[in-house]
Amino acid sequence: MYQHQWHTGELIPLPAGKIVCIGRNYAAHAQELNNPIPSRPILFIKPNTCYQHLDNDIHLAGRLGEHHYEAELAVLIGEEISHKTDDVLSKVKGVGLALDLTLRDMQSELKSKGHPWERAKAYDGSCPMSRFFPLQCGDELHAAEYRFWRNGELKQHGQTAMMLFNIASLLKEVSDTFTLLPGDVVLTGTPKGVGVLADGDKLTLQYQDYPSITTSVVIDQ
Ligand code: ZN
Repeated sequence: MYQHQWHTGELIPLPAGKIVCIGRNYAAHAQELNNPIPSRPILFIKPNTCYQHLDNDIHLAGRLGEHHYEAELAVLIGEEISHKTDDVLSKVKGVGLALDLTLRDMQSELKSKGHPWERAKAYDGSCPMSRFFPLQCGDELHAAEYRFWRNGELKQHGQTAMMLFNIASLLKEVSDTFTLLPGDVVLTGTPKGVGVLADGDKLTLQYQDYPSITTSVVIDQ
């Protein structure tokens, strides 16, 4: 059973809430998938059945198809943010890293038919989540960076300064439609370099200069 944790291993006494995801928040990623750059953030939701801990092996269901990774900065909400909230960054409790896993072939098929994406994005286990680091100050989120390696090769390097919409404006935009509750998580979009995962892959993620996190991919048949 997934529970939010601090990087020290201590449990965070907040429920594992919904996950609100941002699509196409880095121009270079929109371009690599031949998608137009949006004028407003694209939003979608993963339910809390998508969480799995990133510090164990990641288990993925082979029957669903090929799973693609998108390494993203994850913002843990500590206090409610509604459309009336002004100082949204003060409500953030911590920062972590997550994989927004995607069945890309199915997503392309659903998009071409104009259907919702949930089958391709919101399946069980589709959001491996790291432990969280306490936020030092709101400004940290506007100059943060992280890296993702697959089998020792650097695949993604996210820098919040490269985001089309910064994190404060994302939280304003999200909460204008979806009230964010304590324990909810916002995934802030993926930089370029997305790709497919294979059974036995070794994945490494690092936020700022904190110790890196390593995990293995297990594809269950
Ligand atoms: Zn994503």
